[in-house]
Amino acid sequence: MDCLFCKIIAGEIPSTKVYEDEKAYAFRDINPQAPTHILVVPKAHIASVDAISAENADYVAHIFTVIPQIAKAEGLVDGYRVVSNVGQHGCQSVKHLHFHILGGAQLKDTMA
Ligand code: 5GP
Ligand code: ZN
Repeated sequence: MDCLFCKIIAGEIPSTKVYEDEKAYAFRDINPQAPTHILVVPKAHIASVDAISAENADYVAHIFTVIPQIAKAEGLVDGYRVVSNVGQHGCQSVKHLHFHILGGAQLKDTMA
């Protein structure tokens, strides 16, 4: 499948790995929008939040147990933001589900 994040998970495209287990992979965003900017992706190809279903929800639930572990390891003690862009209006550029972890500084008080 011609998917950038599937290739990153497979190691075909290099990335700066932050965390990995059997269901999840996390790496640093190539164009960071905050001092800490990490992407957490399921190892199964799920296109976006809009493609989450009862069949694949275990990947998503697992990712949400991994995110606090990453935040702790990255020292994000004062908080952080978790974002997932969906589709055209959400400005999703990579069609493989990913959760942005943004932190390391005070973020803007605007969501859109
Ligand atoms: P989206 O815009 O789909 O929510 O987020 C995609 C993210 O992937 C962007 O923040 C972008 O900087 C990041 N990205 C795109 N290509 C690469 C890449 O090859 N390596 C890494 N580490 N991040 C990438
Ligand atoms: Zn993929």
